[in-house]
Amino acid sequence: MSAPPPAICRRCLYAETHPLGLVIDADGICSGCRVHEEKDRLDWEERWRRLEELVAPYRSRTGEAHDCIVPVTGAGDSYFVMHLVKERLGLNPLAVSYNRQTNTPLGIRNLANLRIRFDVDLLQKTVNPQLVRRVTRTTLRLMGSIHWHILAGQSVWPVQVAVSHRIPLILWGAHQGLEQVGQFSHHHEVEMTRRYRHDHDLMGREGPDLLTLFDTLTDEDVEPWRYPDDAALHAVGVRGLYLGNFVRWDPKAQHEAMIRSHGYRTSRFSRTFDSYDHVDCFNHMDLHDHLKLLKHGYARVTDHASREIRHGRLTRAQGLALVRAHEQQPPAHVERFCEWIGMEPHALRFVMDRHRNPRWWEEVAPGRWRFRGWSTLVDEPEVTAPDIGFITNDRRERDPDGPEGGDRYILVGRGWPD
Ligand SMILES: [Zn+2]
Repeated sequence: MSAPPPAICRRCLYAETHPLGLVIDADGICSGCRVHEEKDRLDWEERWRRLEELVAPYRSRTGEAHDCIVPVTGAGDSYFVMHLVKERLGLNPLAVSYNRQTNTPLGIRNLANLRIRFDVDLLQKTVNPQLVRRVTRTTLRLMGSIHWHILAGQSVWPVQVAVSHRIPLILWGAHQGLEQVGQFSHHHEVEMTRRYRHDHDLMGREGPDLLTLFDTLTDEDVEPWRYPDDAALHAVGVRGLYLGNFVRWDPKAQHEAMIRSHGYRTSRFSRTFDSYDHVDCFNHMDLHDHLKLLKHGYARVTDHASREIRHGRLTRAQGLALVRAHEQQPPAHVERFCEWIGMEPHALRFVMDRHRNPRWWEEVAPGRWRFRGWSTLVDEPEVTAPDIGFITNDRRERDPDGPEGGDRYILVGRGWPD
């Protein structure tokens, strides 16, 4: 017997089956929407003073050493976080970046521009690409995930650097569990933990979990993604704070400020309307997102629409229209991925179908699937999908052969912005 359809929040578009864990209250409103309400109640000036107090003991006395670590990429919240840390807190950060290897030219450009505009030292980690492909083949087969190495690498490399360089403070942007599903209140001032990374960032699979009997991976193979042990963390006093607990987090407004002030560039992807988010990766808002729809019954555009509904820039009906307009768009970069990983497209389709969750997909004929995911369960009047004005300013279309053009993954790119 199949499970009954899940309850959907009456305000946003999230279902109670959200993989990060979400509860819906007696009024039909989800925990993510409830925690979002705090953004309009909290005294943000007081929160900011609290952050200044927290970071004060970590300031270098000589002014020469790095005060903290800031994890960055060529997209996401990197620019805004760097702006807060360097220009508002006045700290001297060491930027660290885990190389996802499926970089777009735009992501390479944005990271180079970040390093120069913010005038920071940048430490990058590129794991052996052969090994990354081997690990990705394993995580695709075991978990239907092509992003495990990225999620694991981005969450562990800053911690490894904190230990090896003896820089105890790591400053992250927003906490996903707080922002999306309200797992914590802003008042909890939740900090980075090994436990959250394991349960949520990595979906419960650490490196050693990938070492199954029939596999070709060894203990040394998963070493790059191993979290430092407690003794090493305590010896340095490693601590990770989330700036979203101290600043009213609004990615759209923040990105637009960074476009104006620091030259952040953006790009359109077919599977969502948010042209700011993960523009540094060919797969994140493409094939990776398609896999999310197969496994979890919703896609990134539902995250973006729910966020915009909470910020009052979309009605729920408009958000739903945007979700329906984008979530079934076929991924545009499948061939490139197959070439990279060394797999035939039909073999990839076979593996992906094995990870389709029958709760969200009904096989109506061999190889033909009917979608029964979250967006099919929402009841709203039909409206046309609005244009809510996300800026696209990449130069790919104007200059396809220029530094932001091209359609190959960039492993290591140039170090200058323009
Ligand atoms: Zn909600």
